[in-house]
Amino acid sequence: MLLTFLAFFLLDPQVARAQDITLTGELTRADHETYRAVPVTVPAGVERITLALSYDKADHTVLDLGLWDPTRFRGWSGGARDRVTVATTDATPGYLAGPLPAGTWQVMLGVPNIRAGTHSRYRVQLWFDRAGGRAATVQAEGAPLRSGRAWYRGDLHLHDANSDGSCATRATAAAAVPARVPCPLFRTVLAAAAAGLDFVAVTDHNTVAHFAALRELQPWVAPLLLIPGVELTTFHGHANIFAPSRFVDFRLAGREGMAALQRDAHAAGALFSLNHPELPSGERCMGCGWTWPDTDWRRVDAIEVINAAVTTGPMTGLTRWRERLDAGDRVTAIAGSDSHDPDGVTGPSRVGRPTTVIEANELSTPAILDGIRAGRVFVDVAGTRERLLDFTATAGGVRAAMGGSLPLCGSVYVSTHVIGGMGATVRLLGDRGEINATAISEADSTVRTTLGKGAATKWVAAVVERDGAPLLIGNAIYLAPCGRTIE
Ligand SMILES: [Zn+2]
Ligand SMILES: [Zn+2]
Repeated sequence: MLLTFLAFFLLDPQVARAQDITLTGELTRADHETYRAVPVTVPAGVERITLALSYDKADHTVLDLGLWDPTRFRGWSGGARDRVTVATTDATPGYLAGPLPAGTWQVMLGVPNIRAGTHSRYRVQLWFDRAGGRAATVQAEGAPLRSGRAWYRGDLHLHDANSDGSCATRATAAAAVPARVPCPLFRTVLAAAAAGLDFVAVTDHNTVAHFAALRELQPWVAPLLLIPGVELTTFHGHANIFAPSRFVDFRLAGREGMAALQRDAHAAGALFSLNHPELPSGERCMGCGWTWPDTDWRRVDAIEVINAAVTTGPMTGLTRWRERLDAGDRVTAIAGSDSHDPDGVTGPSRVGRPTTVIEANELSTPAILDGIRAGRVFVDVAGTRERLLDFTATAGGVRAAMGGSLPLCGSVYVSTHVIGGMGATVRLLGDRGEINATAISEADSTVRTTLGKGAATKWVAAVVERDGAPLLIGNAIYLAPCGRTIE
């Protein structure tokens, strides 16, 4: 018995990870067919609780698991789970999302079976996320869906019944004029899986109500990664925030408050990205363009440069992105389909067109967001599965990839690798406009360009175009004057 107990603890991979609270105890036959309430004090300000139960299962001992907060029932999973999470936004299926009041909670252990003479040790570990901390989130995530550094392809802008997504009902789908209804989230997720994507962010307008369903769908739809997002939809612009730990209040009246909202989004651990920023705002599309005068540009992590299948005009954010690079900001160009219809029968949007392609260390939400922050990202406008744009530069003995920095010492040697760009043109861009254009004549092509001494640009980026429309949009490499410290 003792050996079993020791082996069980030594083999548990969670042992090595720090937790906020560990509660242990022992059950005997006296606990058979009873409930053991294990009290735990939850401090104020907790945004997520993850708990893990482990116990000695020898002699057919079985424990059920449930959770009560100070005032109400929060969930029950019987013997089906040994790890659950609850937050204001979402919870493990079988558990209730909602506020996490400070006070005494009860981890409830049901005991359907423990034999006479058996002693079963149990251990309950709890992790708490407060502002800035993510231990409970990490513990709830589990293993990455794919390991290894690679380019991962996904769609960062989708809607469903939790805001204004719609589709034909099942009964009328084949009719000449099908009846349309708010479209259940699982249809969007299935469309993303059918498109062969590695990840999607579901970004309903101003709500986190879809987060719980994403948590339910995630194990079933893996290895497609589901990232919870929100399209903050204000009177003067739309912005996607990715993976906030809680609700971020979008209600801004008047013409100020955006900088504070951006701070709040970052405090919630989210990445902040402007959507379709160049759209005109007016009665046709209210608040669609980005016109917040107090925008904190250091807190704009990304700009959606392609929205839906539109590649020219104000639906793109290409001009706004280049303006920010010219201003010295480091902002990553991304894209999203803005699909409101998983069947793709209304409007120009298709799930997975365009895609944002991100080099990440693994397929997990933190790694994908880190990839965006690092700028190792390109946009595949048509959402192909095979096109590639990678871009490196060398100057002053330093080499940088997209998102990186270089000293502008002497010549800058730029190498652009394009797959799937036959017949297209690589345009090298900088803060003074186009630097260079080279036609591509091979399916797998590397274009080398030298920016001679005296070339002065704050940034350089590559865009692959065909017939005047972009196929691939790469992110910038930032150039600092020679001698200045590179970040
Ligand atoms: Zn929008
Ligand atoms: Zn949208």
